[in-house]
Amino acid sequence: MMMAVQKSVFISAFAVQLQKWPSAYPNLLPMKLDILALASHPDDAEMSCSGTLALHAQMGYRTGIVDFTRGELGTRGTPELRDAEAAEAAKILGLTWRGNLGLPDGFVGTTPDQVIKVIEVLRFAQPEVVLCNAPSDRHPDHGSGAELAIRACFMAGLAKIETHWEGQKQQVWRPKQVFHYIQDQLIKPDFVIDITNHWDTKLASIKAFKSQFYDSSNEGPETYISTPEFWRFLGSRAMEYGHGTGAQYAEGFIKTRQMLVTNLLDLTPKTTLV
Ligand SMILES: [Zn+2]
Repeated sequence: MMMAVQKSVFISAFAVQLQKWPSAYPNLLPMKLDILALASHPDDAEMSCSGTLALHAQMGYRTGIVDFTRGELGTRGTPELRDAEAAEAAKILGLTWRGNLGLPDGFVGTTPDQVIKVIEVLRFAQPEVVLCNAPSDRHPDHGSGAELAIRACFMAGLAKIETHWEGQKQQVWRPKQVFHYIQDQLIKPDFVIDITNHWDTKLASIKAFKSQFYDSSNEGPETYISTPEFWRFLGSRAMEYGHGTGAQYAEGFIKTRQMLVTNLLDLTPKTTLV
């Protein structure tokens, strides 16, 4: 009985999001993104890897975000408000596509239903690179969302797991790389990306979630992220990750597998700082 209720939520929530980007959903062909960020909650990607998404969108890559839940357990705002805020943030970041799986907030996990939903979206979006939540974080959905993402990224490449999209059998797909972004808890990154030129865009995408963050005109119960100090924390974190590389602001990432380098000069800093 419980499963039936959840299933209807998956479908309706996803349909709602697709209707917001009809031009980005032209037919049943795969979306074919270059980079896809998977996030347990709407605003996770904005806080953690939106500068990186904006940077790559500006370079011409096709970027997207799939939120696992609608953040319905958030203290402030409503799921409908979060949908609208997520759509606004998608425009700010120049995303090609954004979807929402409608998984239950607070209960993101690796049940077969949840894994299959993520496999379906991976096979639809066919990303080369996936970004996902931190392996462990303040909100337990972040760690479980990371586990869900990694499991689905692997299993999406298994031919014997059959999935269908709009009634048509999907092709297998496995992203070439999966990286964790870093959100709340401090984690030493394996590499950082210079987002200095996209810092303002990152802030604007976060501010699109007006119901969640500090805004002097927004009255509501104070939460962990709704204070003015939270903005200073975001800046401090990005400066810390940039420090030592010559980047004023950076986002940090953790690798999940060995990275193959074919040109050592690709690893030289693109800054004047030595
Ligand atoms: Zn979150």
